[in-house]
Amino acid sequence: MSNITIDQLHMALCEANSIMLTVHVRPDGDAIGSMLAFYEALVGQGKTVYMAVDDIVPEKYSFLTYADHIHDVAYFEENPVSVDMLMVLDASTYERIGKIGALHSAPIFNIDHHISNTQFADYLYLKSDFAATGEIITDLCKNWNWPITESMANALYMAIATDCGFFKFSNTTANTLAMAALCVEQGARPHIISERIEAVSAERLELTKSVMQTISFHKDNTVATIELDPIAMAILKDDTDGFVDIIRNVDTVDIAILLKGESHDRTRVSLRSKRTDVNAIAQQFGGGGHIRAAGCTITGDIEEAKKQLLEVIG
Ligand code: AMP
Ligand code: MN
Ligand code: MN
Repeated sequence: MSNITIDQLHMALCEANSIMLTVHVRPDGDAIGSMLAFYEALVGQGKTVYMAVDDIVPEKYSFLTYADHIHDVAYFEENPVSVDMLMVLDASTYERIGKIGALHSAPIFNIDHHISNTQFADYLYLKSDFAATGEIITDLCKNWNWPITESMANALYMAIATDCGFFKFSNTTANTLAMAALCVEQGARPHIISERIEAVSAERLELTKSVMQTISFHKDNTVATIELDPIAMAILKDDTDGFVDIIRNVDTVDIAILLKGESHDRTRVSLRSKRTDVNAIAQQFGGGGHIRAAGCTITGDIEEAKKQLLEVIG
């Protein structure tokens, strides 16, 4: 593994003719927005570019240009392509890209902003003080004078905004706002993106009413938990965005925990905090992320995961 500079990254991209882009499983707004914008930017530079994700792309991102060009592993197994570079965006470990890694033997490049990055790639461009991978991609386009089209601007704005809670979270910096402003200058429409991303169905809001009943407080109300059982997860089609935010704003709460029950022996966890290093907590369970937003998977049902987390928090 070697860390590369912006110039080395530029040179490598100039030399590559064909590139496969991928992102982490259970892709979020930053992953999808960054990939769609980088896809368009690289096609604009005359490259042959493919986008692969080893997961379902949530329906709410389908309004973005080129979202229908994203394919899964089965597609590339049936239609194999050979590329000069596998470019991994917004993923901090090799496991997080699922089976995409096994599709190629090309050198792996990684553009990422996770402090927990395991340095798995052959070449890493890591900016852990950036709020989003989309902020990095916008910065790269600006530095290299690559045009930011209107569709790229919308994808990048969405990427940046979703990873910093629409500019509310502590990872929001002057540069985050400057890159978002550049996207707006290039045609991004903040209110349209908010409407698309934050739209809820009546069914989802009905479900939220019962999910609110699962909220519980611990350790003098400094820790709050909220639970999605496997039935709720099935109804939500795995789109769990927003649930952890219901409890993070409680005045006494430092650590907010969303417990996502996948089965009786597998619970995925989203951690958010105001003070505590939740990346350190997630890493104790083999996960990671950022200081104030991290995730992990725990063997056990929701109750077991909650017990283990509360023990580790101490
Ligand atoms: P989430 O709670 O899924 O929104 O994730 C919060 C942050 O932690 C994001 O930056 C994720 O990329 C990261 N993250 C979530 N789950 C994991 C995991 N199992 N391993 C490493 N990083 C993770
Ligand atoms: Mn992400
Ligand atoms: Mn991200």
